[in-house]
Amino acid sequence: MRFANINGRACIVSDDRALDIAAASEHALPSDPAVYTSVDHHPRLRDLGNDASEGEWVTFASEDVGPPVPRPGKVIAVALNYPSHAKESTLGTPDEPVVFSKVSSAICGPYDTVEISAEWSRIDYEAEVVVAIGAVMRDVDPAAVWSLTAGVTAGQDISDREEQFREPLRQFSYAKSYDTFAPIGPVLATVDEFPDIDDIGLVGRLDGLQVQSASTKELITNIPDLIAWISERMTLHPGDLVFTGTPAGVGNRRTPPLFLRDGMTLETEIPGVGCMRNIVRGRSPRRLDSQAKERQEA
Ligand code: ZN
Repeated sequence: MRFANINGRACIVSDDRALDIAAASEHALPSDPAVYTSVDHHPRLRDLGNDASEGEWVTFASEDVGPPVPRPGKVIAVALNYPSHAKESTLGTPDEPVVFSKVSSAICGPYDTVEISAEWSRIDYEAEVVVAIGAVMRDVDPAAVWSLTAGVTAGQDISDREEQFREPLRQFSYAKSYDTFAPIGPVLATVDEFPDIDDIGLVGRLDGLQVQSASTKELITNIPDLIAWISERMTLHPGDLVFTGTPAGVGNRRTPPLFLRDGMTLETEIPGVGCMRNIVRGRSPRRLDSQAKERQEA
């Protein structure tokens, strides 16, 4: 199954048509997209999709599509998880996963604009495969991870490289959690949608130029092992997201460097999930005095 958040409502999608889950279930199931991040609901949702009449499937426009998981409880990400990216980073290959978090307010939709301030000169892209947790996982066995996974989507782990590596202490989480720095989508595809779940393709393009391309079979720590490792110390819940790392080709390791600028188009594609298309929009610096003014006017 492929799930999408269309105008804030949980839907099953098939090509360019959507089935509203709440309506199709006669409101036995909620319209909140959280409904499909519990694998307990998947058999019921599969029946709904199979039993729906032609008239219940309606076409939708891309501008109606929001992030498939709009309010994750937490967003965990991993650094240096593809050999190609570990090599280009010159930071070496870690023996164990190196994780950090992105805060959930950074999440935005697959066709939303990514906003950057004119003052930020080193904003970078990172195409990633993103996993949505589908059940409580604590000390989970790697062999059980895929059966407890709600689905897979595409994501961008957008990063302010200046802030990320600022001395004396690097701050990954803040530098990767600005508003709109975590677009995800367009759909959440269940594990059975992939011919080989351990070989998920991933492509990133900037203004049509392919800048990243990889498969998850290259991962240093594969997805089940990564999620099991995280769950040894941190309980994962339905709707939590795991960004599984980015391959080579990020902007700050290119010669010359390639950073996001106003007007650029960032595309992130996974076969079976589709293609996110985010336009980068520059905005004037948001100062405290202008925020105070906005509050006054509101
Ligand atoms: Zn990343």
